[in-house]
Amino acid sequence: MATSDSSGVLRHTDELKRVQQFHEFLQGRLPNGVTVVGNPPRMTADDAFSVIWFLQEVSGLISDSIEMCAYCGTLFDSHKEGHIGEEKNHCSPMCEASDGL
Ligand SMILES: [Zn+2]
Repeated sequence: MATSDSSGVLRHTDELKRVQQFHEFLQGRLPNGVTVVGNPPRMTADDAFSVIWFLQEVSGLISDSIEMCAYCGTLFDSHKEGHIGEEKNHCSPMCEASDGL
């Protein structure tokens, strides 16, 4: 299925797409056609990613290769693009796009 997210963050893998969608949901942005009883969560991007981190590192429900770029906030699969590095005086995940800046 083609990805159509206008920010360009949905790419490469279905799992990445699912995690991105979940990350958006935790910030109150529901996918088209999705409704919830009551109010959707309203987390910050960092808080939302902490939930994903728990599902990765503690629960093991999500691949731990999915990272949030420390520079632009994009989620990406570090097995396929970007890297976890110390460039630019940071030790943090960096997506492919930010890596080229
Ligand atoms: Zn980035």
